[in-house]
Amino acid sequence: MPIKDKLQKPELETIMLIDDDPVSLLVMAESLQEVGFAVIESNDGHKGLTLFAEQHPALILVDLQMPGMDGYTFCKSVRSTPLGRDIPIVVVTGVDDVESIERAYDCGATDFIIKPIRWSIFRHRIQYILRSSNAMQSVQRSSNLLAEAQRVAKLGNWTWDLNEQKLFVSEESYRIFGVPRVDPGVFHRLLMSSVHKDDKKGFDIAVQKASDGEATDFAFLACLPNGEAKNILMHLDGSAEHLEPGHRIFGTIQDITERRKAEESVRQLAYYDSITGLPNRDLFKEHLSMALHQAERSKEKIAVMFLDLDNFKRVNDSLGHEAGDALLKAVSERLHESLRSSDLAARDVADMNSSLARLGGDEFTVMLSGLHGIEHVEMIAQRILDRIAEPMMLSGNRVCVSSSIGIAIYPEDGEDLDTLLRNADAAMYEVKSQGRNGVFFYDNALRQQSHDRLELESELHTAIEQDQLTLFYQPKVDAETCQLLGFEALIRWIHPERGMVSPIDFIPVAEESGLILPMGAWVIKTACRQYQAWRKVTDTEFSVSVNLSAHQFADEHLMTTIRDILIETEMPAQYLEFEITETVLMQDADAAMKILDQMKVMGLRVSIDDFGTGYSSISYLKYFPADVLKIDREFVKDLPDDEQDATITNAIILLGKALNMGIVAEGVETESQLQWMRDKGCDQIQGYLFSPPVPPERAEEMLIDPFSLRHD
Ligand code: C2E
Ligand code: CA
Ligand code: CA
Repeated sequence: MPIKDKLQKPELETIMLIDDDPVSLLVMAESLQEVGFAVIESNDGHKGLTLFAEQHPALILVDLQMPGMDGYTFCKSVRSTPLGRDIPIVVVTGVDDVESIERAYDCGATDFIIKPIRWSIFRHRIQYILRSSNAMQSVQRSSNLLAEAQRVAKLGNWTWDLNEQKLFVSEESYRIFGVPRVDPGVFHRLLMSSVHKDDKKGFDIAVQKASDGEATDFAFLACLPNGEAKNILMHLDGSAEHLEPGHRIFGTIQDITERRKAEESVRQLAYYDSITGLPNRDLFKEHLSMALHQAERSKEKIAVMFLDLDNFKRVNDSLGHEAGDALLKAVSERLHESLRSSDLAARDVADMNSSLARLGGDEFTVMLSGLHGIEHVEMIAQRILDRIAEPMMLSGNRVCVSSSIGIAIYPEDGEDLDTLLRNADAAMYEVKSQGRNGVFFYDNALRQQSHDRLELESELHTAIEQDQLTLFYQPKVDAETCQLLGFEALIRWIHPERGMVSPIDFIPVAEESGLILPMGAWVIKTACRQYQAWRKVTDTEFSVSVNLSAHQFADEHLMTTIRDILIETEMPAQYLEFEITETVLMQDADAAMKILDQMKVMGLRVSIDDFGTGYSSISYLKYFPADVLKIDREFVKDLPDDEQDATITNAIILLGKALNMGIVAEGVETESQLQWMRDKGCDQIQGYLFSPPVPPERAEEMLIDPFSLRHD
């Protein structure tokens, strides 16, 4: 038998009878005992009260009319005791009038039985009253338990009528919101106005989800009427079958303020260094690993710096631990200051994020993520060194500390967390071994490269201002007749100290810095002017071609720029050709098609440069309205011996012919290459065999005698 039944059984079974009439007392007792009840009898109200207190019966039957204490008074007395609050009391009355029954109810009676008693149904009646009273009590008990559980869990439940905008809530919900019991309409307004503005959107989405029948959890900050702010977790559901979807949702509401605080302090302990308040090694690794994921997708770079104080131990030993701690704190503040992005050169570090940590001892790490290049990393590291090196006061002493920084760059110096940390550490040791107080990149070549690039960019600015840029021209000739057909304009930078700088080195810098747009426009204009000047010295037709870079091609003003130049220089469009690489065209093939269409409408010629090197665009080729395919030098250089290159080049020529395009072979350096091209039906040749790119004066001589390049 379950324990619960064992405990409750005697209580359930005991019935107390109080009646001054011994006969009815006897009959009632017998009739109840017959069906298994235990019976306690009393012929007097006072005695009944004592018995009740001693024996805790499950039900009381009491006669209303008794000498001494009557039934009414007895009822009242029982009800006034804590034990007697819920016990069913059935009054027995011979007086069949409504008034006395009502009075009995007022005194706390549960039900009544009329004398003379109909014995045939008496015991059924009693059994029934007892059962329903038990059911009532158990409902009450569980609802008390639920309320209690909700109070302990700080969890309330609610039903929300979305049509009527009413929120029916449990007791605990009021307590959470710190308000007295209010009308469901009022509670609805209360909830709506308490959701913090940053959480409003999410809250509306959660409600919408629930009203679509999807259960969801939503945590928000509630600003309560009493001025308090609480973290609330709401569970919203709309999927119960008995509720009309969309009209009613229901769920729970929980005060998680303390839980949040506890979580926060656990986190603080687990993830932060107690001296400086900086993230510790674990959290730093978390940050770095998140940044690595991000960088992998966005192709950005990350710099990991390892910083070690050069003379921490001396401070600690001579001035004591307190001074040592103060030094660590000061260093952490100085690190923060050095990384404040508002002070950093804005453009290149606009997307930069930084994260700091103390790994332990006097070791710190700095992570810079979201970098497009590493030009500024060294500068930031130097700022950190300088700032830390400034003198500080520790326990009344003026102290100077220097530091050493090692830097590793993702992805060049390592693609995973451990490698990067290890390499940054190694670079830091390199600084130490070279006399401390400095910055060292794990890959020094990389640093040199970034340094050069930065320098190049600033020099390129001057180059444009001081007219150090010039155009060279490389002839293209007819493969069969070797007659000059036109020139490709190729930019040159005559640097006062470095001499001629290759466009391969400075075009990418110009692209990144945005200088390519004015520079590109200058190239187009100069080539057009040159064409017009040459027109005057020859009667033969020829064309000039100009290379367009990715940035220029993506520039929304490109077509206007070209149109303005054509007008200004009176350049006939059909003699101007634009060379655009396959890779650039394929970056956004649909947009490229539109621009090529516009170029064709203006009468310009278009050639697809470096064909075959990029992402295969063969299927697109027929949609690009291009006039010429230029076979990249890469395929030409090992001809005719390299069989694979021969196969590819042959295929490109066939493809171009099939699409009615002219074919230009770049980089033809030998007779046998020229012969091979002729055999395969290539139309035009460009390459050192005929001429390298030359200055305009030299090109002019070629123009005057267009067959001077003949080669047989
Ligand atoms: P590209 O458009 O493929 O230009 C052809 C390159 O091949 C030129 O290099 C040219 O000097 C070189 N070349 C031509 N024939 C031979 C040969 O027989 N043997 C060898 N080894 N090389 C040959 P360059 O002038 O150094 O230009 C390099 C790249 O820089 C160009 O490649 C082009 O992409 C870019 N570039 C040059 N000028 C401009 C310009 O004004 N604007 C833009 N956006 N890019 C330019
Ligand atoms: Ca070209
Ligand atoms: Ca090329």
